[in-house]
Amino acid sequence: MPYQISATKLQTYHRCPFAYYLRYERGVASNEFFGSPALGTALHQALARCHRDWDYQTAVPDWRWVQHCWEQHSEGLTQNQVTEGLEILENYYHNFIASEVALRQPLAVEGKIQGFLQVENLEFLITGRYDRIDFLSDGLELIDYKSGREVRLPDAPEIDIQIGLYYLALEQTYHQSLRVLSLLFLRTGEKVQFEATPAHRKQVQELIGALAMRLRYDRGWEPTPGTHCDRCSFSRYCPAVSAKPDPAPQTRSKAQLQLALSF
Ligand code: SF4
Repeated sequence: MPYQISATKLQTYHRCPFAYYLRYERGVASNEFFGSPALGTALHQALARCHRDWDYQTAVPDWRWVQHCWEQHSEGLTQNQVTEGLEILENYYHNFIASEVALRQPLAVEGKIQGFLQVENLEFLITGRYDRIDFLSDGLELIDYKSGREVRLPDAPEIDIQIGLYYLALEQTYHQSLRVLSLLFLRTGEKVQFEATPAHRKQVQELIGALAMRLRYDRGWEPTPGTHCDRCSFSRYCPAVSAKPDPAPQTRSKAQLQLALSF
């Protein structure tokens, strides 16, 4: 059975192998906080419909089309959320639709990323999600909508890992290279772009290679302290930051662990 790997998992591994080990190999719960996703989910779905179902016979849809898409996906939200979502979409419409000469038909919207990688005789299944993929003249643009209130850019190493992993997977699926990863901040109308290169793919292959060795021999999960320790859920178990760390709970049975590693 292939071992599943995602950008989130690989970013955790890159920050600290010990945190990765506790979270994904021992199954220790982390207390990461996720805000209420309802408005964000509705916005993503409305935008997916907007770009996927437009007939592309007319160069640019008018605002009523976006309103219609919002009505299809805003049921169940509070009145404040419905109003807030509509304002966000109006902003999006003016920045990214009305300003275009012709709306570009996407290659895909709201889909799963999947790819395979063989390293050290171990098979990895790359998984992820995307909001939209557009064709460029020389490759692909992957677009990730951000609906949070803050324009917070991921750290450079984290974005590099995400780019490298998507580069690998999209190349297998579409036989095209990823050229650009775009983060599109819906509330502010900002679009931040990162160039993708084969060097990103190489870096991720090397990172997965190092992970494969640790998985294979189940050792080398050293703590790697740094500023990221401030946000770590596992510090009480960590010998790098606690003189007397608590023993980490074994939340998966030995049999489950062996099953996960039986590749
Ligand atoms: S506290 Fe720091 S070094 Fe320890 S597990 Fe967490 S991230 Fe790693």
